[in-house]
Amino acid sequence: MKYQNTAKDNRQECTICPRYCKLKVNQKGFCKAYKNINGRIEPLYYGKLSSMQIDPIEKKPLYHFYPNTKTLSIGALGCNLACKFCQNYSISQTFEVPNSNYIPPQAICDLAKKYNCESVSFTYNEPVVFIDYVIDTAKILKENNIKTILVSSGYLNQKPREDLFRYIDACNIDLKGFNEKFYNKNCLCNLYPIIDTIKYIKNNTNAHLEITTLLIEGENDLDDDIKNEVYWIIENIGKDVPLHFLAFFPSYKMKDKKQTSIDIIRKAIKIAKDVGLLYVYGGNIDDQEISTTFCHNCKKPIITRRNLSIKDSINIDNEGKCVFCNTQIPGVFEKIGF
Ligand code: SF4
Ligand code: SF4
Repeated sequence: MKYQNTAKDNRQECTICPRYCKLKVNQKGFCKAYKNINGRIEPLYYGKLSSMQIDPIEKKPLYHFYPNTKTLSIGALGCNLACKFCQNYSISQTFEVPNSNYIPPQAICDLAKKYNCESVSFTYNEPVVFIDYVIDTAKILKENNIKTILVSSGYLNQKPREDLFRYIDACNIDLKGFNEKFYNKNCLCNLYPIIDTIKYIKNNTNAHLEITTLLIEGENDLDDDIKNEVYWIIENIGKDVPLHFLAFFPSYKMKDKKQTSIDIIRKAIKIAKDVGLLYVYGGNIDDQEISTTFCHNCKKPIITRRNLSIKDSINIDNEGKCVFCNTQIPGVFEKIGF
């Protein structure tokens, strides 16, 4: 694994993410996905996948990138964050290593083709902790004209970030709340590297970007936090980046919390739209209104969704314009109609 330095006491320092774990021989990193083996840090789960499934791209969620297409979603094990609300904790935090077979990067490409998936998504656990495999696989996918999608918390350092995003076509970054204390207390990390990643994607890559915030009642749903997040997004990324507010389900170390109600999701959407964001959605709740794309100019429904599937025809032309008023819709829609 190339992201490492030799630190004091002959420990090896992993430089993938801001934790900079310094590992003695036989010691694992915070993420449990890297280990010092005989003086070199090596990935433990290269090609050892925990999960694989064909999803609608809307499930990532990506609503403005090749809508109504299929994505082959894959995940491995471990995570460099430790979110108390993790919805995938059985593969990110408290996992037992399954006896899974090694799946080489070329096999992922072959599977995507076999099942007519227009893209492959690196998702479920945190792709940063299997970055070597993500990059090797994404290189092959791009050579085969299959789109590459990253679903990530964005907690990584500059060099791996540059290497990774060279091969990524679209991403959804989890912005878990716009509050340093929330990140410190509930994810055991800081907010600023994540903000850096989002700015890097916007300013230094061509990757399509959407942002997700999982709302937990009483934890990160304060009006001011939502306003601050949206002001920051508009100022730094732009008002046309799609933002998804997802409902939380009691999980992992937050089993005592309530499931997020649709009223809280609707309230957050209203705040974000009032502040000026053009495309704001709700998710993890079956409701057509909060899942549908309305043209920001004429306000007519241009992609009607219900429960992650698209209803009726998509009212965006092959140049990405609203068929009702000819306004350019932010996103990548060129395959529609083909
Ligand atoms: S990727 Fe894992 S081992 Fe490397 S610094 Fe981050 S938490 Fe530590
Ligand atoms: S970053 Fe994602 S996978 Fe990792 S602990 Fe947090 S919610 Fe779970």
